[in-house]
Amino acid sequence: MTEQAIEQAAAILSRAKRIVVFTGAGISTESGIPDFRSPGGVWDRFDPTEFTYQRFLSSEDARRKYWSLSKLFYEPLVSANPNPGHDAVVALERWGRLDCIVTQNIDGLHQRAGSSPDRVIELHGTALSVSCLSCRKRHSREEVQARVEAGEEVPRCEGCGGIMKPDTISFGQPMPERETAEAFRRAENCDLCWVIGSSLVVTPAAHVPVAAVNAGAKLIILNGSETPLDEAADVVLRGKAGEVAPRLIERARALAGETA
Ligand SMILES: [Zn+2]
Repeated sequence: MTEQAIEQAAAILSRAKRIVVFTGAGISTESGIPDFRSPGGVWDRFDPTEFTYQRFLSSEDARRKYWSLSKLFYEPLVSANPNPGHDAVVALERWGRLDCIVTQNIDGLHQRAGSSPDRVIELHGTALSVSCLSCRKRHSREEVQARVEAGEEVPRCEGCGGIMKPDTISFGQPMPERETAEAFRRAENCDLCWVIGSSLVVTPAAHVPVAAVNAGAKLIILNGSETPLDEAADVVLRGKAGEVAPRLIERARALAGETA
């Protein structure tokens, strides 16, 4: 990544007024959260077809397996802390330029960093709550996970006895309608989509930046590796979110004639 790329991106950022930040696993790996889809990740060790939404709904055995492995997914999330990449997105909001954050992450780290919860659109749900699939009652994940740790193999809703599932989107589970529609609506109305830490391969989430570009927005991609959208981007920054994003915002503010 060159200084020239930073300058180009900063120039775009300094002129943008309604920015949609689109984040993926890359921003959270810098907080020590494993990318479950990467080589050596959880989905290399377990067969995803055994953990589909359909299996979860239809088989008590599948639910038992799901909950017995849930600790593997949950513990890294709660022990992680936001990093300077998340802080940079908070800075963007305080600067008044952020429209919203569309995230593929389920770890709640944007909110914990200080981003306004009503500006965070979680396309793949959240691991921090659990809902009853019958009466929709929401429970904190902490509370349900504690029940599992205490020996409850398949926790049931205390209200109606229904099946409970963490509010993450599983394989084979439809995307949340409201969040998905909102993400696309925001993307179509932004003037800059800034991708941070997403390889843009998981669809339909990855179509959000495409929608922004098609509606005339600029596109900046900051990611550790190539993405299928690099060609469509105005600037591609190859690097770490926690290192590059703060520099970029600082430079953009300087160009906008403001001090950070
Ligand atoms: Zn219930």
